[in-house]
Amino acid sequence: MLTVAIVGGGASGVEMGATLADLLPTWYIPLGENPQEIRIVILQRGSEILKESKSDRLRETAQSELQQRTAPVEVLLESEVKAVYPGAIEFERNGQSWRLAAATVVWTAGNATHPVIDSLAIAPENRDKHNRLLVKPTLQLPEFPEVFAAGDCAIDPSNPQPATAQVAYQQGAAIAHNLKALIAGKSLTPATVNLRGTLIKLGLHESAVEIFDYYEIKGHLGQAIRLATYLELMPTPARNFVNRTRWFNEEILKQIAGV
Ligand SMILES: Cc1cc2nc3c(=O)[nH]c(=O)nc-3n(C[C@H](O)[C@H](O)[C@H](O)COP(=O)(O)OP(=O)(O)OC[C@H]3O[C@@H](n4cnc5c(N)ncnc54)[C@H](O)[C@@H]3O)c2cc1C
Repeated sequence: MLTVAIVGGGASGVEMGATLADLLPTWYIPLGENPQEIRIVILQRGSEILKESKSDRLRETAQSELQQRTAPVEVLLESEVKAVYPGAIEFERNGQSWRLAAATVVWTAGNATHPVIDSLAIAPENRDKHNRLLVKPTLQLPEFPEVFAAGDCAIDPSNPQPATAQVAYQQGAAIAHNLKALIAGKSLTPATVNLRGTLIKLGLHESAVEIFDYYEIKGHLGQAIRLATYLELMPTPARNFVNRTRWFNEEILKQIAGV
């Protein structure tokens, strides 16, 4: 009952593991129990966590923060999950099959393209191995230049970008710009994406922030920057106000009050 298996050591798996490792003890300790009995296990197929990140420093920070949580987080590398059963998972490691008893299994090992994208009349040579649509630098489909694609469902092979919201957001603006150009009979411009960095939550109240993948700020200050960044991205002032109030309460008032 006290073991949580997290499948996948990407950003979502690491954030989930670190957060649960701080959160579950806040319920378990008041019962008079030992938080060390809680076991959180991240199973990652490859040889390292956060493999999409270009930053080795971020990987090291995440590894060390996972070890410092209130409940221990184990990272099992080179471990490929083969089956999930009620109460257990099966995985392969070093050519051997293993079973881990876990009442809770969290799947974070990626997602797939939407069936609508799969069903489009786009030739296989204009798709990648994940079935995403290949687009030109202007984000037009090669076969249908009047159709644009962006975000998680598309990939420009000449300038591949990670499947993240900050990329989708900027590509959306590029499409709007190109649609206006198309209507005005002007030439289209290639989409440019500026990666502003990586924000990763490493526990209930801590984060690591890689600014332009150059500077790293971690701990409580990293968390403050992460929250401020998300606030800045809220689509409406009303939502901004609601989240600002909630986060101020959760991150500052409750911590000062020690609850
Ligand atoms: C757990 C998780 C955590 C993540 N964390 C981060 C993060 O911290 N930072 C970050 O930058 N990125 C993060 N990402 C990635 C980010 O969410 C995606 O890259 C981003 O949402 C892609 O945007 P999109 O517009 O391509 O697709 P989506 O955001 O998936 O939008 C597609 C929309 O189309 C709608 N839709 C689908 N089919 C139809 C249809 N037939 N008709 C009409 N509408 C339809 C869907 O309902 C959906 O709203 C995370 C992803 C996951 C899964």
